[in-house]
Amino acid sequence: MESLKHDTFLINLECPACGATYEATELNTVCKVAECQSTLFPRYDTAKTFDKGLLKGRPANMWRYWEMLPVLDANHIVSMGEGFTPLLPVINLDEDIAGNQVFFKNEAGNPTGSFKARGISMAVSKAKELGVKTIAIPTAGNAGGALSAYAARAGMKAVVYMPKLTPQLFKDECRLYGADLTEIDGNISDCGKLIHEQAAEKGWFPISTLREPYRVEGKKTMGYEIAEQLNWEVPDVIFYPTGGGTGLIGIWKAFKEMAALGWIGDKRPRMVAVQSESCDGIVNAFNEGSASATFVDGGFTIANGLRVPKSYADKEILKALKESCGTALTISDAEMEAGVKQLAQTQGILMAPEGAALWLAYKKLKVAHWIKPGETVVMVNTGSGYKYLENIKY
Ligand SMILES: *Cc1c(COP(=O)(O)O)cnc(C)c1O
Ligand SMILES: [Zn+2]
Repeated sequence: MESLKHDTFLINLECPACGATYEATELNTVCKVAECQSTLFPRYDTAKTFDKGLLKGRPANMWRYWEMLPVLDANHIVSMGEGFTPLLPVINLDEDIAGNQVFFKNEAGNPTGSFKARGISMAVSKAKELGVKTIAIPTAGNAGGALSAYAARAGMKAVVYMPKLTPQLFKDECRLYGADLTEIDGNISDCGKLIHEQAAEKGWFPISTLREPYRVEGKKTMGYEIAEQLNWEVPDVIFYPTGGGTGLIGIWKAFKEMAALGWIGDKRPRMVAVQSESCDGIVNAFNEGSASATFVDGGFTIANGLRVPKSYADKEILKALKESCGTALTISDAEMEAGVKQLAQTQGILMAPEGAALWLAYKKLKVAHWIKPGETVVMVNTGSGYKYLENIKY
């Protein structure tokens, strides 16, 4: 068979905190400098020519941007067609959106029903390329299901640690895909601690959010797609439900990369982080003008993807919010539940509460005149609401 080798522009991995660099041909987690341990980010040679017109004939999935993705040999790609999800205009709510163009980037149709498929497809592909056999993840729900599915497809073993309070369906799918699932009486940070304590001894490769360099590369493709689907017009505002912050950091990275490639001009979107009232560490830090967040866990929220007491890359999230002239705000569970219903009944999309939260956040920022007439707004509906139904009353 003809080799699928494509040409990635990947150079290496770089630490944004201390500048150390690492080879992408070796298995890496975080920066090895003892007092640093920051997230590492893949860097690409954007001086090379990449005509965006080339995209036209390519497959409608996230791998269409392969030059700007980290897999060295396309034979290692573990894909189920994730990405290139539709950018749907908000309809039937004309009074609320008057004066704006408002879209949902609907990630619900990805394999396993959330945008986690993007990051996990990328991380599993790279792990396969680098010889990993057992891959482990602490998860608030969706990432566990995605890893279980992609590991099954890759012929790897998946180890998943998930809070006991997560709705049952998130657990069932992991077990059905053949993962080794452990339920933990605690939050995702507790799950992460347990995984990292055992990983070396058990031979697991952990891919905790932003403690592994490639999930963010999968999620950044949402930024490329938003620009491509808006015909390379950069939107004014992007709303993102922020747990670990991978997607927010990734989308911001994508816009920088597209500018470096000459695909877009100087305009950047203002990034908005939306959190649950129960886990609002980023919102607090943003409001206080702090460069880092503190640990906050107010307990259960129906938006389990947002129950992240502290992101490993809090500094990078806050930097993106500041650089982009963005903002951050919280939404309550009651508001999210009302949002899920309103959007189901007007858009015909049963969204994850995390995605519905963005609609409430948009309405608040519009009333506050933070969103101005004429602006184009994109909200990332990160997942399907189907797995959450035991917590949504109707
Ligand atoms: C994981 C998850 C989030 C949070 O994503 P991060 O990129 O880690 O901030 C939001 N929504 C849903 C549905 C999720 O599964
Ligand atoms: Zn470093």
